[in-house]
Amino acid sequence: MTAYFSRLSLAIVFITGVLASGVASALPITKIATINIYQLCNDAGANCAATGPAGDPFFAGSTNKIWEQAGIGFTFNFVSKINSSAFLHINDTVVGDGFWDLQATYGGGPSFTSIDLFLVQTITTASGGAYGEGWLGMGGLVMAMQDIMSFNGGLGRIDTLAHELGHNFGLQPNSLGGVGWHSTDPNNLMASGGIRRVPTTLSDISPIGLGYDQLTLAQVNNARQSSLLSNVAYDTIPEPASSALFVIALLALSVSRYRQFG
Ligand SMILES: [Zn+2]
Repeated sequence: MTAYFSRLSLAIVFITGVLASGVASALPITKIATINIYQLCNDAGANCAATGPAGDPFFAGSTNKIWEQAGIGFTFNFVSKINSSAFLHINDTVVGDGFWDLQATYGGGPSFTSIDLFLVQTITTASGGAYGEGWLGMGGLVMAMQDIMSFNGGLGRIDTLAHELGHNFGLQPNSLGGVGWHSTDPNNLMASGGIRRVPTTLSDISPIGLGYDQLTLAQVNNARQSSLLSNVAYDTIPEPASSALFVIALLALSVSRYRQFG
């Protein structure tokens, strides 16, 4: 029994070390941003846009999971409902009815220092419909919750917000191995909605499971330079020295148990 216990302790220490060194997967969160949320309803305050799946309001869980690979985390701050039948269905082809008009009216316009998220029912653009829209290199995005939530049998497109945030952070895939505004790799977060492989659960998200919504190292480095992000304290990250001490402590524990019961 004692010998088995000792080997088990060593095995756990080893696996933990391997996971901690897999930096390509999950980085310590050292950059954060706050997302200010506005929920559109009609003039009477009814027919409001959905706020996300029951188990993951605002897609906060999936968005944080996806951006963990860049060491970026988000807090979600619900600001208010907006009663406006005109903006409940965004139409970028009609002057006064587009996303620009909505954000200029209620959010102060695109910003280099803050991110406003508007939840609407549908979005019409010059090229048809869209699940979401976000500025390139500036804060501000809109999500078509009626279409997003009907995707995947009602589970929703759980990476739309993360994708639009990538645009806000200034990701220009055409300079990072893609074509036009988007990556050509279906497993990349910045692939267009038409070809991107969309996760259905958190375990599909890179690096685990199916490995969807990946970011390249160039994309990570690029996004982390965004002025929309703030630095967070680094003092909660275990130092290598203390990890080594932890291993030694466990070894000592194993040995002492062996001596005690062996
Ligand atoms: Zn896009």
